[in-house]
Parts: sequence; C-alpha cells; structure tokens
Amino acid sequence: MERHGLRFNKGYGQNFLINEAVPKRIAAECGAEADEGILEIGPGIGTLTCELCRLYKKVVAVEIDTSLIPALQETTAEFDNLTILNADVLKVDLPSLIAKEFDGMKVTVCANLPYYITTPILMGLLESGCRFENITVMIQKEVALRLCAKPGDADYGAVTASVARYGQVSRLFTVSAGSFMPAPKVDSAVIRIKIDAVRRYTVKDERIMGRTIRGAFAQRRKTLVNSLASEFGELNKEAIAEVVIAAGLAPDVRGERLGIPQFAALADALTAALGK
Ligand code: SAM
Repeated sequence: MERHGLRFNKGYGQNFLINEAVPKRIAAECGAEADEGILEIGPGIGTLTCELCRLYKKVVAVEIDTSLIPALQETTAEFDNLTILNADVLKVDLPSLIAKEFDGMKVTVCANLPYYITTPILMGLLESGCRFENITVMIQKEVALRLCAKPGDADYGAVTASVARYGQVSRLFTVSAGSFMPAPKVDSAVIRIKIDAVRRYTVKDERIMGRTIRGAFAQRRKTLVNSLASEFGELNKEAIAEVVIAAGLAPDVRGERLGIPQFAALADALTAALGK
C-alpha cells in the first residue's frame, strides 16, 4: 500500500486481512465446488481474492475504491480467471452481471464485507433474484450471532427472519481484531448461508412478507397485533387481530417467537385482508 501511496479509507469500511491463515480458511470453507464461479465483494488489495482464484474456476471481484485497483491488479496479476469490476455493489445490476460473467455456472458469494453496509448487501444479494449456492461472509460477530439466532432467542430479530427465508445460516469461525489492519474495534465472525435450492415457504406477495417481518419486530415490547398495526396502517387493530387468529396464532403472541412458517401464514392472511 505504501508503494502505491494508499491509505485506508475508513468511510469504505477498509479493514484488510493481514493474517494469511484467515483468507485461506474463508476460501476453503465457503461451500463452493472447484468448478463454481465466485462473486467477491470488496477485494481490497486482493488477500482473499488470490485464495479464491487458486481454488475456483472463475472469480469476479467488485471493488468501489478506484484508488485500490492498480494495487489489486498487481497482487492478482498471476491469475487469468479473475475479472475486477470497479463499482459500488449496491448499485450493480446483479442478475445482468451474473448472466454475463458466469454464463450458467453455479455461483457462490464470498467476501470480507465492509461492516457499515452488511445488511443492505446481504438483503440486496438475497432479494436480487439471483440463485446463489452459498453466501459466505465475514461480518461483525454481533451481527453473526443475530443471524444465527432461533425464534425466542434474545438476538432473534427482523434481519434474522429476513435472511432465514432464503437459507440455512451457520457460523463457521470467529476472527480476532488482530488479524486485520487497521484492527477493527469489534470481533468478527465468518458465516455461511446455504441457500435453499427450492424456497421452503412460498407466499402470495413477497412485499407483504417483508412488511410482515418488519412490522412484527417494529415494537418488540408490544404484542404482535399492536406491533403489526404500526406497519399496516391500512387495517384497523380488530382486522389485524382477526388476521393473527386466521393465521393460527394466539392473539397475544410476540413477534420474536415466530419462525418462517408462521410469518408466511401471517403474510398470506394479511394479503387476503388487504384484498390483494
Ligand atoms: N477483502 C479485503 C480483505 O479481506 O483484506 C478487504 C475487505 S474490507 C473489510 C471491505 C472492502 O469493501 C474494502 O476494500 C472496501 O473498499 C470495499 N467496499 C466498501 N464499500 C463497497 C461497496 N459499496 N461496493 C464494493 N466494495 C465496497
């Protein structure tokens, strides 16, 4: 970085891996097969990228910071199975990118994510309509615990349920702050979301499902009926109470007790009540 006159850009969540064992392990355990394509987000100066290029057929790496690209090209020069894209992953048209670069291959996402946009990136990937095999990412440990929580756990929340709709989340290993430069103030963990080949719970209206999950957790201390009422202003509380009963749930249940099957039943009952 010194040779290229580079500085860490905190605004882009730049904490680069300096412990060689960590990118090796992330690449090896990301869940992909050797003939799969890999989408990497935020390659930085290529520590994880090189390991991915060694193990998998093709890698596409999307990096927002233009100033890093020459250093990244240098560290990855030996690989001819890498495409570097200088772009903001939140603005990329993922289905077009995947179709163009991977041409029918299976694709796994593997990344050490910029922590300031973990949730938008994860939800953007899951809701993109692209069928990824796995999404294996290093994130803040606290967020990893939340994503791995089960209904009823203190850490279970809207983001847990939103991600659980798409696959099975498992925590692979934790990484200490000393493995990065600069060292982040928080601990990190690598999680893998094994995406379900077939969606386990289909609903009539995906947007209502999203609103149902958000609404159920909007006011955690309130009952489900009261919490949903704040999201679904179109319906009065009596109508929402009927919906909750129609979905087979107790009227005084709390959102944090519900798993995906219950949210799906509730979303369909709300869709019917809204006359959609
Ligand atoms: N993969 C490298 C490593 O492990 O050492 C760097 C990881 S660093 C935590 C996150 C990387 O994501 C940085 O290189 C940063 O510039 C990049 N980044 C931040 N926001 C981004 C965005 N919206 N789109 C693409 N890359 C982004």
